[in-house]
Amino acid sequence: MTDVAVDTSELRKTYVTSSGVTEAVAGLTLRVGRGELFGLLGPNGAGKTTTMGMLTTRIAPTSGTAAVAGADVVGDPIAVRRSIGVVPQYNNLDRQLTALENLEFSGRYAGLTAKAARRRALELLELFSMESRAGAKINEMSGGQAQRVMLARALMRRPDILFLDEPTSGLDPQTRVNLWDILRRMRADGQTIVLSTHYMEEAESLCDRIAIVDHGTLLACDTLDALKASTDLETVLTLTYETDADAEKIIAQVKELAGVTNAEASGENLRVFTLTPDGVLAALVRVGQDAGLALADVRIVRPSLETVFLNLTGREYRE
Ligand code: ATP
Repeated sequence: MTDVAVDTSELRKTYVTSSGVTEAVAGLTLRVGRGELFGLLGPNGAGKTTTMGMLTTRIAPTSGTAAVAGADVVGDPIAVRRSIGVVPQYNNLDRQLTALENLEFSGRYAGLTAKAARRRALELLELFSMESRAGAKINEMSGGQAQRVMLARALMRRPDILFLDEPTSGLDPQTRVNLWDILRRMRADGQTIVLSTHYMEEAESLCDRIAIVDHGTLLACDTLDALKASTDLETVLTLTYETDADAEKIIAQVKELAGVTNAEASGENLRVFTLTPDGVLAALVRVGQDAGLALADVRIVRPSLETVFLNLTGREYRE
C-alpha cells in the first residue's frame, strides 16, 4: 500500500453533444495522500461531479490517467470499486426499503455474510445516531437522515477511500454541521476522504487540502493557509475612533509605517491594508494614542478563500 490514495495525470473528459463540445474536465493533475480529508471546490458546472465520476469509475475519461488506491480506473475498475465507498450527489437509496435493509443489501453485495452485514449495518446506524430509524423506510426520512444512511452504506465494506459528491448540498445549516462533525471524526480515525463541494465555508472549515477548480481546470491546490499565503492577499484593518474624531490627521504618518501597503481615512474610520497585520495593528494603536484619538472599535478582515478565488480568476465566486 502506498501513501498516495488518488493520483491523476492530465485527466480529461470532453462531452460532444448537439449543442457543442464541453471540456467538463480539462486536464486535471492532482494527488491525494492517504489519511487526508481532501476537498474539490468549485462553482456550479466547474467539473466536480465529472471528476468524482471518473475517480469512482462511473464515467470513462476521454484521456489522461487516474489511479485510485493504486489501481487504474480504466485498466482495473473492479479493484478500484473494491477499495472505495461512494456517496453520490443525489439520494439513490431504495426508497421502499428501510435504512437497515438498504445497508444489509449493500453489505451482502460487497460479499459479507447475512450475519456480518446486519452487525455492520447496526454498528454504523448507531455511529450516526440513526439506530432509532433503522426500521424506517427511506421515503419517510428527512434529507439529513437519508444522507447519513448513504454515508453508512458507503462504509459497509470499510473502504480505503471515501468519495462524497457535494454531500451537504440542500441540507439545512444544522444538519450540515452535524455531517461535518461525522466527517471530522472519521478523518481523525484515519479514513481518507475526498469530497466535492461548492460551499467555500465547507472547504475552509473541513479540508486538509483544497483543490480549487473552475471550467474543468485546476487553479490551485494546497492547504487553506498556503492558498491564502501564496496569493499575497492583504488583511484589512478598520479602526474606528470615538465620534467626531478626525482620522485624517494621522493618515500621512500611518502610510509611512512599516508593513502598511495602503491606508484610507474617512471621518472617524481608518482603513489600513497590510500583509503583516499583527505588527501593524500594534503600531496603529500607538500612533492613534499619540495623536489623542480614542479608539472605539477594531475590525480585522483576514484573507479568505473567497479573496483567493477572486485573486485567481478575477471573478466573484458564483455558488
Ligand atoms: P454542479 O455543482 O452543478 O454539480 P459540477 O462542478 O459538478 O457542477 P459537472 O456536473 O461535472 O460540474 O459539469 C461540468 C460541465 O460538463 C458542465 O458544463 C456540464 O453541463 C457538462 N456536463 C456534465 N455532464 C454532461 C453530460 N453527460 N453531457 C454533456 N455535458 C455534460
